[in-house]
Parts: sequence; C-alpha cells; structure tokens
Amino acid sequence: MTSLQIGLILPDILGTYGDDGNALVLRQRARMRGHEAEIVPIKLGEPVPDSLDVYTLGGGEDTAQILAAEHLIADGGLTRAAAAKRPILAICAGLQVLGESFRASGRVVDGVGLIDATTASMTERAIGEVATEPTKAGITAELTEPLTGFENHMGATILGPAAQPLGTLTRGTGNADTAAILDLSDRAVQRGAEGAVQGSVIATYMHGPVLARNPQLADLLLAKAMGVALSELEPLNIPAINQLRTERFNASEPPRSQR
Ligand code: GLN
Repeated sequence: MTSLQIGLILPDILGTYGDDGNALVLRQRARMRGHEAEIVPIKLGEPVPDSLDVYTLGGGEDTAQILAAEHLIADGGLTRAAAAKRPILAICAGLQVLGESFRASGRVVDGVGLIDATTASMTERAIGEVATEPTKAGITAELTEPLTGFENHMGATILGPAAQPLGTLTRGTGNADTAAILDLSDRAVQRGAEGAVQGSVIATYMHGPVLARNPQLADLLLAKAMGVALSELEPLNIPAINQLRTERFNASEPPRSQR
C-alpha cells in the first residue's frame, strides 16, 4: 500500500480542543505497524481532496464552526469522500457541522448534511468525563471496548432515523441533557445517546483526544482506511494507554465551581 493519507480538516479553526491529536494517533498507530502514513492538513479556503484514506475534524467555537460549515458545503470534497464511503471522524463542533443544521451565535446554520442530526442548544454547558458502551451500529459493529472522553459543549444533538448513536452513556451528558434543551423539544430525543454513526461517518462529543483514549476506535478507523477487518490489524501493546483508560474511567468529577 502507498502511504496512508490522513486528512486533518480545518485545523486552523477546528483545533481548539486538542482534537488534532486524533490524526497524530492514526499516523503513529499505522507507522508502528510498518505502514507509511502522513497527515494532510486542509485549511480554511483550501479544497478538500476526496481521495484521502481517512478524515478527521475537531471541535471549535461557535463562530469557527459556522465558517467550517460554509466552507465544507461550498467545497463539496468531504461530501464526495463520504459518498465514496471513506471513513470520517468528527468531534463535537465537527459532529454538529456534519449534521443537517446547528444553532450557533444565536442563529440556525445549515450543516453539511452527512449525518441525520439537528443540534439545538442546552440551558447549561455540559463539561466533564463521558463514558459509553458502543452500540456497534453500522461501521462500528466490530467495537467491543467501552469508550471514554471528555465533553465541553452547549449543543443538544437530536438524531434522525438515518443516524444511530455511537455509544450508550454510562457517564456524562452526551448528545443531549433531555431536561435542558432550549428548543426543538418537538423532536424525539434519544435518552442516553452519545455521538452518531451514519454510512462511513463516526461522530462523537468526546475530546481527549478520543483516539488517544480509545485505541480500538483508532484501529477501527485505520482498518476501514486500509480496507481490512479490525481483527486483521496486528495488536499493539502500549501499557500507558491501559493506565490512562483505567484512570479516566475511575476519575472523580471536580465540583462544578472548579470546572
Ligand atoms: N461550539 C460548540 C458547542 O459549544 C462546540 C464546542 C466544541 O467543539 N467543544 O456546542
């Protein structure tokens, strides 16, 4: 295989929460298995090639995510990549931007439409540790390990029938605190849902970076990028990751005033 091309989409505006680390994790896990891999950063205003092997989008602030949505819709490259079933990982603002619409800076903004989801606002910001059990929906069927991350968002994301949650919450707010949605209360809200899976898109509110905390999810994306089954990837034994996961699953929450 030629060098694995990892698209890092709009790191200049969707790079606020350290989610660029997801691309680094993919590159490192590929290289540790002897595959050549490189990160292809695509900045605001630049065309998104539709031929990369895997794409990552991170979180960002409200104004930044409006710019991101406008650019990705006008460009069309990421939509073509999704149509070609190329794996895409989207985090937080990235999740919202890939939905049908989201609310930011006091208005409803069109999303890229790769996920059947609408994001409204919550009355309070959700901040803290998140943990889920994978739903094994769609392309995440091979996931078996619980997922861990941290969330920091005001968005309440309501999935439509074409999208399924990535995980079922065991901790945290995830897609929506059902008691705290400001609008769109006419739409059915899934209880305990976190993230979204639709076609080749995997989206989550989990920062961390999520792929540093969840090596199985990283390997699933790598496997999809390489066109092999997850079980075909040689296991990597990295004790520090197990330590990190144990620590995060057991972490106690600081009082609200200290967050
Ligand atoms: N601006 C969005 C929100 O607050 C996304 C934040 C993020 O990406 N962490 O909901």
